[in-house]
Amino acid sequence: MIRKTQRIKKEVFLIFKITPTIKRVFSSISQPIKAIVLKSNSAHIRNLFPGEIMIRSILIYLSKADWARNLVTNWKFAWKAASRFIAGETIDDAINVVKELNKNGINATLDQLGENTSSPEEALQATQGIIRILEEIEENEVKANVSIKLTQIGLALNEQLCLDNLERILNNAKDKNNFIRVDMEDTPYTDQTIKLVHYLMNKGYLNTGIVLQSYLYRTEIDIKELIKDKVKFRLVKGAYKESSNDAFPRKKDVDENFDRLTEIIISSAIEQGSEVVSSNGRFPPVTALGTHDEKRILKAIQFQKMKGLSNDALEFQMLYGIRRDLQEQLTAQKYPVRVYVPFGTHWYPYFVRRLAERPANIWFFISNYFRK
Ligand SMILES: Cc1cc2nc3c(=O)[nH]c(=O)nc-3n(C[C@H](O)[C@H](O)[C@H](O)COP(=O)(O)OP(=O)(O)OC[C@H]3O[C@@H](n4cnc5c(N)ncnc54)[C@H](O)[C@@H]3O)c2cc1C
Repeated sequence: MIRKTQRIKKEVFLIFKITPTIKRVFSSISQPIKAIVLKSNSAHIRNLFPGEIMIRSILIYLSKADWARNLVTNWKFAWKAASRFIAGETIDDAINVVKELNKNGINATLDQLGENTSSPEEALQATQGIIRILEEIEENEVKANVSIKLTQIGLALNEQLCLDNLERILNNAKDKNNFIRVDMEDTPYTDQTIKLVHYLMNKGYLNTGIVLQSYLYRTEIDIKELIKDKVKFRLVKGAYKESSNDAFPRKKDVDENFDRLTEIIISSAIEQGSEVVSSNGRFPPVTALGTHDEKRILKAIQFQKMKGLSNDALEFQMLYGIRRDLQEQLTAQKYPVRVYVPFGTHWYPYFVRRLAERPANIWFFISNYFRK
């Protein structure tokens, strides 16, 4: 009898303990879902099936939710699924992947996963981590540069702190004859990212370049502005959830804009002397296209050939774990190909964005649970 009472007490206690968490989870998820269902006009997704729109939007929301990160990163099978897109948890894992890619004639850009650091100490730690990657690239003599996110080195905390960290990284990369690509994050950071990269380029750091997203209306103006200063671009479609005030709601328009922007960048690269990828594989040409979309790639190649730009002045970039066949095909056609190789323990938001890009990946994720 005493035992039974104790067990009931325990269960009641548990229910009370768990209920607020469940409530919190549901209330934090229900608002964005409601917004999605009611509006369903968020950028880049309007011409997908309604179910797909909802799944994508929920995933992009989840990629930023701390409670979901805490939950998912504790599941062993989640890491197993994530490791399709992530080279490993350590720099050694990543360097081994780069060596394999180099053997197959493919260059790399290394990304130490992490974004939105929450203290100056963490931002400094991330900066030191990035400098260590540059050292490892040098020691191992691999053909790789580095991609970074400015919120990783403090942009969300303090602009000056981020600028100082970025300058430290660029200085170090300059000494090692290496290149730093600054990834583009969501629109709260677009202006600042462009401003800081532009400022440091004008200060003499020519070993950097930027990423611009074809889903944003503003990108054509940004490209035309930055091109005057010979900025090196990686053009991508864009991976974040943006409002239709800022970004094309329809995928078709994002794709068409990608083709149009590709033509603008290629034309300007020719006017500037058709710089090619460097022989150490670290400095990309002015035009780098970050996409797995065969139609976009085909259109770019048609335009490049029509304009007479040499193959080694047009770089194609893809993400680790996606479309290896296409990477090999382009390499065989003598185009420079660079694979974005992410590594590290902060893999959650990166992984969930990859799921959002292709809802079919969710089945791959779930199948890993049954294989655990
Ligand atoms: C090198 C590189 C760097 C990037 N850097 C940034 C950045 O700094 N900022 C930013 O906002 N975005 C970045 N992105 C992501 C980009 O914006 C897109 O979200 C992503 O590339 C998917 O779009 P897509 O061009 O491949 O075309 P989509 O039309 O989305 O996909 C075309 C085809 O590619 C394949 N594919 C695409 N995504 C996946 C996936 N996750 N899993 C499996 N197959 C897939 C599928 O076969 C799909 O049919 C980067 C992408 C690359 C390749």
